[in-house]
Amino acid sequence: MYDLLIRHGRVIDPASALDERADVAIRDGRIALVAPAIDPSTARATIEADGQIVTPGLVDLHTHIYWGVTYWGIEADPVAARSGVTTWLDAGSAGAYSLPGFRRYIVEPSRVRIFALLNLSAIGLIAPTWELSNLDYCDVELAARIVAEHRDLVLGIKARIDGNTTRGVGIRPLQLARALADRVGLPLMVHIGSGPPEIAAIAALLRPGDILTHCFTGGDHRLLTADGRLAPLAHELRQRGVLLDTGHGGGSFSYAVAEAALAEGLLPDVISSDIHQLSVQGPMFDLPTTLSKFLNLGMSLPEVIDRATRRPAVAVGRPDLGTLGIGAPADIAIFRLEEGAYTFYDVAMEARPGRQRLVCTATLVAGQELPRAAERPPAPWAALPEHQRRVLGKG
Ligand SMILES: [Zn+2]
Repeated sequence: MYDLLIRHGRVIDPASALDERADVAIRDGRIALVAPAIDPSTARATIEADGQIVTPGLVDLHTHIYWGVTYWGIEADPVAARSGVTTWLDAGSAGAYSLPGFRRYIVEPSRVRIFALLNLSAIGLIAPTWELSNLDYCDVELAARIVAEHRDLVLGIKARIDGNTTRGVGIRPLQLARALADRVGLPLMVHIGSGPPEIAAIAALLRPGDILTHCFTGGDHRLLTADGRLAPLAHELRQRGVLLDTGHGGGSFSYAVAEAALAEGLLPDVISSDIHQLSVQGPMFDLPTTLSKFLNLGMSLPEVIDRATRRPAVAVGRPDLGTLGIGAPADIAIFRLEEGAYTFYDVAMEARPGRQRLVCTATLVAGQELPRAAERPPAPWAALPEHQRRVLGKG
């Protein structure tokens, strides 16, 4: 007897090379069977997904969910229930001093699966920026000890490398992050934006399997030539096996750069949200909205689902997640693909029309549907910049 059967949906599971109408059976919190027609009398409960899309629960490689402790953090569960994201990689909210608290107060009470990319800076993202500008906080020895104690939770290292985070200390924090990642044998996620340091100096320290997040930033690290074409460095990074991750966020997604990349056939390796106190208010909103932007730029539905399920899971060494393979955790998202006339925006509020929008109708973690729940209002310090507020009609 199955616990639950999800019937008649279009099942898209890139990890299983599957895109077909099928039923999904769940038993004991795991995927028991995926097949064209499973007898409903073999299940205690059913969900009808006719006309909908059934995917692995989304894996968001770049989020900020250390609510109540950091400037950027939101709460994951309420957003998960409406967005289909079942695995959340928190990208550097916690550093060595605050990772034990992240486990105790965020990971343990949450229903979604949560992992961390440990910030090189021991203070993490308590404040909006400057975390690497005091090298006393960039303690490789201490961070390596914390990783060793939390191997199940820490799947990578994070360093934000831009003019504010590193103020006055140049490329040194990235060299230390490099040393830390090599020492603990985990991928390094580096955030870019506007220098110093220069993008070439940053790229030179990235290795295969590392993650360049905010790859479509419009800041002065942008991978764009003066005449609006994709910078050769983008192709070089791809060839070297550095993963290009969108990390849309509140200030890191430019249509000009994304369109230049897609025009040259360079698709992002991972599509992540960089959801946080500001970006959740728009124009990012959530991961399905971000995926919809790439759908409307011409990527196929299986291509965008792949970049928010299998690929991010593999990037952090967890290929058991982001899949509907038999025996995998029954983390599942169900979507409607709505047709209409929509307008999407990048962070500069450049508008693009779109005809399709992914809307999540259900999120299941280990076979249990997450209840919809109210989200907290924005923190008192989390006001969108004026150019975003104006277009979004928020005052
Ligand atoms: Zn971020």
